[in-house]
Amino acid sequence: LVEELLVEIELTKHDHVLISHDKKDMLYQAELIDAKGINPEDLLMGIPYFAKDNFATKNLQTTAGSKILEGFVPLYNANVIDLLDESGAIMSGKSNMDELGMGGTGLSSGYGLLHNPLDHERLVGGSSSGSAFAVAKGMVPFALGTDTGDSIRKPASFVGIVGYKPTYGAISRYGMFPYSPSLDHGGVLTRTVDDAAIVADALIKKDFRDFTSVEIAEKDFYKNINNFDKNQTFGYIKDVHDHLPKELREKYNELYKMMEKDGVKVVPIEFRSDLLNALSSVYMMISFSEAVSSNANLTGVDFGDRVDGETWEDIMKDTRTNKFGPVVKRRFIIGSLNLQKENQNIYLHKAKKVRRLICDELEKAYKQVDFLITPPSQTIAPLIVESEEIDQNKNKETEYIDDILTLGNFSGMPSITIPFVTAEKMPVGLNLNAKPFADLKVLQGAKYLE
Ligand code: GLN
Repeated sequence: LVEELLVEIELTKHDHVLISHDKKDMLYQAELIDAKGINPEDLLMGIPYFAKDNFATKNLQTTAGSKILEGFVPLYNANVIDLLDESGAIMSGKSNMDELGMGGTGLSSGYGLLHNPLDHERLVGGSSSGSAFAVAKGMVPFALGTDTGDSIRKPASFVGIVGYKPTYGAISRYGMFPYSPSLDHGGVLTRTVDDAAIVADALIKKDFRDFTSVEIAEKDFYKNINNFDKNQTFGYIKDVHDHLPKELREKYNELYKMMEKDGVKVVPIEFRSDLLNALSSVYMMISFSEAVSSNANLTGVDFGDRVDGETWEDIMKDTRTNKFGPVVKRRFIIGSLNLQKENQNIYLHKAKKVRRLICDELEKAYKQVDFLITPPSQTIAPLIVESEEIDQNKNKETEYIDDILTLGNFSGMPSITIPFVTAEKMPVGLNLNAKPFADLKVLQGAKYLE
């Protein structure tokens, strides 16, 4: 498998899928496993995978897609990498991503832009762009991603694969470079729900090195994946549904009818529309502000790449000015403005209060239903030329975050995107959510719908 993958990596080297890989180490890991022999019960043993480049890998460059971290080689592994090592999976490359996880296009990495593997003219989506590309193209059966707003689920939707973001803290954030720590979720991209369950079995484990790590009581995801209980209710947000493009709305209506026929209840639910309208702004306020403080260590002084200067202030200023891309800089500027003392009450604290209201509204929804269906995107992957035009018009960057149809990551609920329909030969996914800690349930529900 590793030898075949190395050929595939060579063939796709102009697609910017990977930022780094270590051929020798991959072959060495494979040899060790060959020597040991594979136990068929160890489902991940000997399976090559990619990790998004914001997971720290010992002895292998980790850049989070940013030039400021070029050449940075961590001395430690992220928790997920250690866990997968224990399972015998073979870490085979660090996948490209929008810089520091900011963005949803695959166009804002410091290491080359990515295309959609199904249609070169279209976006792959992001920020887990290389991971989505690689899984859709069949290079690896699974790849790790992170999701702060929709960064696993949006690209999964655009390339027609499964993207699973477990409950906040279920996957340890130890060694996962932050974008916005209170929203950052680790997760996985796979081709099937079964595969997502297998990887989740390896990754979901309480970790004392991450103080927000949580215990998930109901596990054994893969073993129990087919035990879906039809006696549960699915809901969809009426307001969101009514505003979908007509063809997509009809596809959802067809699905709901089929589910009803199968004896599964599907109901429309109300969700305060002022809160739906606020989602995107609240997301920007909170994530941009947290990003400023959690990335304040990227100065070029202690680690990473630097622009030399006379004083450490010069080094810091010139390094940050030269090494960060336009999306990151714009977000840091807005985030810094929110964090200014006089602005905190006007913007940031207000956004946090609205976040609470959104979580309350979600809790209310989960009193009526077991699952919430949301669309991960309203359209197929947009054309790159259209988005490049948008990129030039800097103010329009928000277009890519104002459609956080997946309801943001405010409550930490588990959420999974699966392939749904195709239009113009391109896929669009469906997103299934359940309340925090109901990871087994959401996987079972996704398997039922798959
Ligand atoms: N696309 C969203 C953004 O631009 C989400 C990013 C993410 O989840 N990391 O911020």
